[in-house]
Amino acid sequence: MSDADIIIVGSGMGGATLAAGLVGSGLRVLILERGQVLHDCAEARDAEAIYRHGHFRPDETWLTPDGDRLNPGNYSYVGGNSKFYGGVMMRYREADFSPIRHIGGTTPGWPLAYSDLAPYYTLAERLFQVRGVIGEDPTEPAHDAPYDFPPIAHEPAIIDLKARLARIGLHPAPLPLAVDLDRWLHRAATPWDGFPDTTGGKLDAESAALVTALRDCNITLRTGVSVRHIEVEGARVKGLLTSAGRLSAPRIVLAAGAVHSAALLLRSATHAHPNGIANSSDQVGRNFMNHNASAVLALSHRRNRSIYQKTLQLNDWYLKGGPGGAPLGNVQLLGRVSGPILASQTGLPKPLARLIANHAIDFYAMSEDLPDPDSRVTVQGDEIVLDWRRSNWDGHLALVAALKAALKRAGFPVVLSKAFDRRTPSHQCGTARIGVDPATSVCDPFGRTHDHPNLYICDASLLPTSAAVNPSLTIAALALRQAEHLREGTA
Ligand SMILES: Cc1cc2nc3c(=O)[nH]c(=O)nc-3n(C[C@H](O)[C@H](O)[C@H](O)COP(=O)(O)OP(=O)(O)OC[C@H]3O[C@@H](n4cnc5c(N)ncnc54)[C@H](O)[C@@H]3O)c2cc1C
Repeated sequence: MSDADIIIVGSGMGGATLAAGLVGSGLRVLILERGQVLHDCAEARDAEAIYRHGHFRPDETWLTPDGDRLNPGNYSYVGGNSKFYGGVMMRYREADFSPIRHIGGTTPGWPLAYSDLAPYYTLAERLFQVRGVIGEDPTEPAHDAPYDFPPIAHEPAIIDLKARLARIGLHPAPLPLAVDLDRWLHRAATPWDGFPDTTGGKLDAESAALVTALRDCNITLRTGVSVRHIEVEGARVKGLLTSAGRLSAPRIVLAAGAVHSAALLLRSATHAHPNGIANSSDQVGRNFMNHNASAVLALSHRRNRSIYQKTLQLNDWYLKGGPGGAPLGNVQLLGRVSGPILASQTGLPKPLARLIANHAIDFYAMSEDLPDPDSRVTVQGDEIVLDWRRSNWDGHLALVAALKAALKRAGFPVVLSKAFDRRTPSHQCGTARIGVDPATSVCDPFGRTHDHPNLYICDASLLPTSAAVNPSLTIAALALRQAEHLREGTA
């Protein structure tokens, strides 16, 4: 007797959105989530608790190839990493689906065209109530419908910044955001990027997708259930060994995130599948990507009184603009650095950190990390080993240099930067990529594993390239496309 028609492992961006896409299908869906619901608490809006004390960080370490341990900023709650996300819900650009030549190499392209994913991008934007506008960003691909909500208003310092950037010939545009600003600020006047959502002010995997899914009485969520092993008989997956015992369903979907889904597949190796499950291609865990990203602080005598700030982006260097016309990446505002955040990240004395933060506008410069088979997740027993090999680093340095020079021209005399390191695997992806060739990919373009007809993956693992775009909307669009496929199919 099966426990459901479909079991989904993980309630983050991929898993919760897939469940929302299965509403009304009549299928009995069971979502297993190892974390718990993140309830409101004083620390939820306390920068010191979040950034200095790591209050919400997981009780988990991963190994580096040198045997060092890192405590990753990879969160384990209902809603997954999206509980902490910056709410940027942005489409890959149309060019991202074809091979692109970067300073650090050429991307492989996707087995799908932008037009294949565009209708699901629209559905995902509706589900997450994305606030945005079409027409201001020259790289924005065609939409088949306008956003349902106008973009979030810039604060005064950002209106001034936008004018300065436009004056030097750049094209600043609103960030598409899944944030209900009034609801967010009603709880407390803080930024939202990196802060957990406990009141539905961010439209995240829990508050937008899971809430929708759980209105269907056929869809249930079990929290605190960790999946440890996948059982396979012949080509078919038979069941899951979990902290709550053995569970089974005719179709299983892994949505545990790019690191944990890969680790689960590798850990489930058997005599018949010595490389792990779904791994006849030897691609599971490989091609780990995470974006090359830096924080860039623009300082001036002007006081930045913004609260949330994260409403503006620049794509002037996205498709070209680097040496020889190379693409460099996206620039967007960070969620407003404060004294406690800067002190905890740099070790500066608090008064100095506060002074700098008060006069800073902080940006997130993000460049594409290219797939590399040697950049990978492996397992040693129950331990996860992450060997992230950054690629295209020169492209990223060129982006940071272009941004710094532009900010100086725009009236910020001092501009500082600091790269994010491997302890911040926020945009992890690529470890079970989609493709048409079973020899070079793990899943087909719907996310079904090539090796096992009843095993699917539905999270950031699927992305064959990282682009230079925040991943969530693309994960959600792929999930809604997979939901349609699962409604139609019977594996
Ligand atoms: C601080 C921060 C800011 C970010 N900002 C943005 C942004 O602005 N825009 C954007 O697009 N992206 C952003 N991201 C990234 C985004 O959150 C992730 O890309 C996205 O959540 C990944 O979705 P996923 O489905 O792959 O995995 P996740 O959302 O991580 O979900 C995986 C889930 O699986 C569960 N799980 C893991 N292993 C098991 C197991 N063995 N058994 C049961 N359950 C398990 C986990 O607890 C988790 O809930 C941000 C991330 C962080 C950390």
